[in-house]
Amino acid sequence: MDFLWLFIIYVFLLVLCVSIYCFLSGRSGNGLDGVFHRAEEALFHVLPTWLHSCLTSCFYTRSAEFVVLHLVLEALVFAEYTWEVLDYSLEMEVHWTFVFLPYALITVNLYFFYKCCKSDPGTVTKNNEAFCTQMYEYDNIMFHGGRKCQTCHLMKPARSKHCGVCGICVQRFDHHCVWVNNCIGAQNIRYFLLYLASLSCTALTMAGVIGGFLLQVVLLSHMMHAAYKDSEGHEELVGIVFISQHLFLTFPRIVFTLGFLLILILLLGGYTCFVCYLCTTNQTTNEWYKAKRFTSSAVSPRIYSRGILGNLREVFQPYTHGKKKR
Ligand SMILES: [Zn+2]
Ligand SMILES: [Zn+2]
Repeated sequence: MDFLWLFIIYVFLLVLCVSIYCFLSGRSGNGLDGVFHRAEEALFHVLPTWLHSCLTSCFYTRSAEFVVLHLVLEALVFAEYTWEVLDYSLEMEVHWTFVFLPYALITVNLYFFYKCCKSDPGTVTKNNEAFCTQMYEYDNIMFHGGRKCQTCHLMKPARSKHCGVCGICVQRFDHHCVWVNNCIGAQNIRYFLLYLASLSCTALTMAGVIGGFLLQVVLLSHMMHAAYKDSEGHEELVGIVFISQHLFLTFPRIVFTLGFLLILILLLGGYTCFVCYLCTTNQTTNEWYKAKRFTSSAVSPRIYSRGILGNLREVFQPYTHGKKKR
């Protein structure tokens, strides 16, 4: 079963890449820091020097590799979509608004991607240090008052964290995202949420168009009613595996693109839901990880919650220097 093996290898490689990415980028603030650190040391020990340097450059310093990779992947998927799917879909009479919707959504997505990359996440500076330290109360469990950042030499506001990659302290620190080469914090979490939502919608509509196109091919060719003769000469109706293999052999790039989009929807959709959950409960990824360490004590990961509407307001209208604390 050539098609199935190819597809399984493809899915395996894709999941492996995602796992390596999560493993290398998700270490910050994690309760499993020690385990990750030892595993990283062991991994780097066996890697060739050039690969070690490359991974260090990608994950431990500010660099644009992932931003470029992100844009290249989007360009490749859209090139394939434009080159093959667009014409076929219009020929198959898939409604044009549905066919062109991914282009509108990717334009919106690129805007939020740009905002995530370029906007200030909420840097704590000498000018806003006093304002930032009054922004949130210290819970004296996860965040303690009266402490200074050893690198920036500024007071550490509650909910802030120093990002080792960017070299700054960030208000309401969420995480450092290598895909946008920037920290995600109080001032740009809204862009990040809209970036994730628009990318999920783009992938979803594109997969819908491709799925609709392949379904049209199957229906119009009456493939479902086709039959073949088995080794003993008996006539058998073709099944879903046979149809999938036929579609793969006829439209290999389109089927691979659909597979890629389906995996992306699963991972990205899940992550978007997680970020929505954090935003509506007024938690950051950093706090969500940290809270796990304090499960036996009285700490609640939702101590900063002001109700769903209040929490969303804080995400979309963050406190800024010069505005009164709500
Ligand atoms: Zn700092
Ligand atoms: Zn950062």
